[in-house]
Amino acid sequence: MRLWCAVFLSLAALAGSARVHAAVHSIEQPEWTTPIAPFQITDHLYYVGSRDLASYLIVTPAGDILINSSLESSPALIRRSVEQLGFRFSDIRILLISHAHWDHDAGSAAILRATHAKYMVMDSDVPVVESGGAKDFFYPHDLYPPAHVDRVLHDGDRVELGGVVLVAHKTPGHTRGCTTWTLRTPDQGKMVNVVIVGSWNVNPGFRLVNRPGHPASYPGIAADYRKTFALLRSLPCDVFLGAHGGYFDMLAKLARVKAGADRSVWIDPQGYQRAVAAKQHDFEAELHRQQSAPR
Ligand SMILES: [Zn+2]
Repeated sequence: MRLWCAVFLSLAALAGSARVHAAVHSIEQPEWTTPIAPFQITDHLYYVGSRDLASYLIVTPAGDILINSSLESSPALIRRSVEQLGFRFSDIRILLISHAHWDHDAGSAAILRATHAKYMVMDSDVPVVESGGAKDFFYPHDLYPPAHVDRVLHDGDRVELGGVVLVAHKTPGHTRGCTTWTLRTPDQGKMVNVVIVGSWNVNPGFRLVNRPGHPASYPGIAADYRKTFALLRSLPCDVFLGAHGGYFDMLAKLARVKAGADRSVWIDPQGYQRAVAAKQHDFEAELHRQQSAPR
């Protein structure tokens, strides 16, 4: 899935008018809103998103953790998925996000109202979610309901509930507070390392290079991407997941499950390293293209 929010968000940013914005904002990839049956990934980790916008439920004895509220229209789909698995939406105690773009965080205000969960967000993404997108460095016209952050996270912070420990890795570039989540968790009798990639994409229009009169999208963005790729390469990964199903070939892996494979299809350390390397290659190529462009 190569088509995604960036295209439309870029159009919205370029258009810059509320009227056009509203029209653009209403265009969504069908895969973002098409339901799929929720499924189990490890003993306590479940997929509760759509065909491409990933949401994850982590079930603990002390209540549950939800990662990604997705679009403003997504909470109903996420809720149905949670309930279809036999869990209660009201048991969600903590809400986390992959990063502060509207396809991952616009549903947060509604989910927080419905569940009274605590919202925990990486430091540099906090102003964006609390302004409903207005403080985003690239998409300040893509607005959605703002949501109050209960706990500001910093790189390496742990989010703990009912014996589950998630680690928040700050992987900036795509947004300033983009967050890759990791957890070590039981799966069918053994412990596995899960990585949920926040994002590694350089969106169309992002400026990686600082030029007089044409500043970088934000100061230090290229160095941030470099740090992010170094960190991603270093993470131990058995179960490879991400903010979009397309990051980790979800639909192809689901097809294997439907054909009879067990849930070990989600264990894909080689696929993870290949994907990180491919995305780093894309980033370096784009950086080189921008550095080589005529001044
Ligand atoms: Zn994004």
